Amino acid sequence: MRIPKRLFLALSAAILLVVVLFVVVNNHAARESLDQSLRDRARELGSAYEVALSSSLVSASQMASFIAADVETLRYMARAREALAGDGGDPFGSHSAEVRYLWLQAMQPSLHHLRQRFGMNELEFHLYVNDQAMSFLRLHRPEGFGDVIEAPDHPVNRAARTGAGAAAPVLDAGGAALRAAEPVRWSGPDADEEQLLGMVEVGLSFDALLDLLNRRLGVQAAVVLDAAAVEGVVALVVRERELTRLAGTSCYLFTAAGPDADRLKDEVTSCHAGVSVVGDSVPVAGKRRFAQTVVPLELAGAGRSIAGAVVLWFDAEAALAAYERTLVVNIGYAAAGFIVLGLVLFVLLRGGMRVFETELRRRTSEIRQLNRRLTRMATTDSLTGLHNRRHFLQRMQVEMDRVRRAGGELALILIDLDHFKQVNDRYGHQVGDEVLRKTGRLLLEQIRSVDIVGRYGGEELCVLLPDTDAAQAMIMAERLRAGIAGMPFMAPGGTAFRVTASLGVAQWDGLADRDTLFVQADTALYAAKDAGRNRVVPFGPGPPAGKRP
Ligand code: GH3
Ligand code: MG
Ligand code: MG
Repeated sequence: MRIPKRLFLALSAAILLVVVLFVVVNNHAARESLDQSLRDRARELGSAYEVALSSSLVSASQMASFIAADVETLRYMARAREALAGDGGDPFGSHSAEVRYLWLQAMQPSLHHLRQRFGMNELEFHLYVNDQAMSFLRLHRPEGFGDVIEAPDHPVNRAARTGAGAAAPVLDAGGAALRAAEPVRWSGPDADEEQLLGMVEVGLSFDALLDLLNRRLGVQAAVVLDAAAVEGVVALVVRERELTRLAGTSCYLFTAAGPDADRLKDEVTSCHAGVSVVGDSVPVAGKRRFAQTVVPLELAGAGRSIAGAVVLWFDAEAALAAYERTLVVNIGYAAAGFIVLGLVLFVLLRGGMRVFETELRRRTSEIRQLNRRLTRMATTDSLTGLHNRRHFLQRMQVEMDRVRRAGGELALILIDLDHFKQVNDRYGHQVGDEVLRKTGRLLLEQIRSVDIVGRYGGEELCVLLPDTDAAQAMIMAERLRAGIAGMPFMAPGGTAFRVTASLGVAQWDGLADRDTLFVQADTALYAAKDAGRNRVVPFGPGPPAGKRP
């Protein structure tokens, strides 16, 4: 028997479903943990950036405060104030120009040294006149001076206001930079007369900061600036020369660091506040894959609190590769599981079918046996093993039909044991049964294979003889009578006895019906009884009656 295809397919589909669920759930978990690890790394890098930013601002402040405390600075600043006063407050006046020139000459070597050594790329001296900070000397750009810094949150103005050092990332006409300002004070012999002369301003570029992050942490970084803030503040000439408008955003790219930064900056799609990890659409640069995080950037002088962002990209290759490996391994496990479970299912189903098949065969043969027994019980007399009356009549009808069709002879013998009641009465019912059984056996032994023997009723038996005429039937009947009379019996207690039988013989004329033939044989049987029993009598005129023993 073969495995039922539909059942196998349905169970296989169920296993497949479970296996697919396994992969989906596992993949979901792996994806979550990948996203979480990228988010964690993004947060760490955001913090690293904050630390680097504040340490850069601290070092700018330190440089500014060293320069502010220098006696040379104090002397030149005092002279510059005098010169400006001499020029009637005009920074372009000749006295101012002279002092500016000398100051520039004196400071140039220091600027060079600080630039080389500490990455300081801006050094400026402001005079504090009429409650305003006016740029008197820019060492890094000597031709630019005389302007007044207006933004109240600019470190120079904060330093002037508070009298203490201040530092912050700043957006000004030159772009974004890290700036620190330190007040320069003169105190005369009397400490009460302390006077604020001006401010020292030191600037560091974002490039140095981003380079540091790239070198130390392997982060690619870019500073992007809000277009609206840039357009209000940054000089047009700087804007056009140095800033790139990022396609599809409201941002300018100010600067970028790291070998892939130029390609990665095309991936910048947001420069708004807040930290985000691009987990689902990890930017791809070349063959390596990166995740992106955005740190909001506060810039003094920008006229808005968040005027830009620092975008940091970090290598996500290893994390993504690990995730993809997990996925492949899970799919592998799932496929193997599916195959193994499928095989187990196949083997179980086949085993089950075998058991089922064996059981079915056993049941079928049981039913066949039972049917055979039922048929036997329905057609056989249980005491003698002869055909019962119903079956005998059926067979007889078949024979009569056959003779009617094909012609031939048919004879019927009816046998009735003589005084059988007395046998029962004398020796008991069981002995009577034994007599009936043995008589039945005797009949079966005596007849031909074509003859049919039945138990017609109590102690009445009948034999149908096909292809037999009356004379032959008489001979057969006589043989049966003699056989019965000659059988020895033993009663309990050792008494031997014999029984006799009377027989009526009728030959079918081919016309009469079954009942009529029976009536005829029965008539002959009664005649035999009447004539004194233990004899054979034919129906109607026939051969002479059998003789007595
Ligand atoms: P007769 O010579 O006139 O035929 O006398 P008989 O006693 O044989 O006839 P009767 O019809 O009066 O009695 C038949 C008896 O056969 C009565 C019954 O107890 C007995 N008999 C019928 N069937 C069975 C049977 O299956 N077993 C036994 N032990 N006796 C049976
Ligand atoms: Mg009888
Ligand atoms: Mg009888």
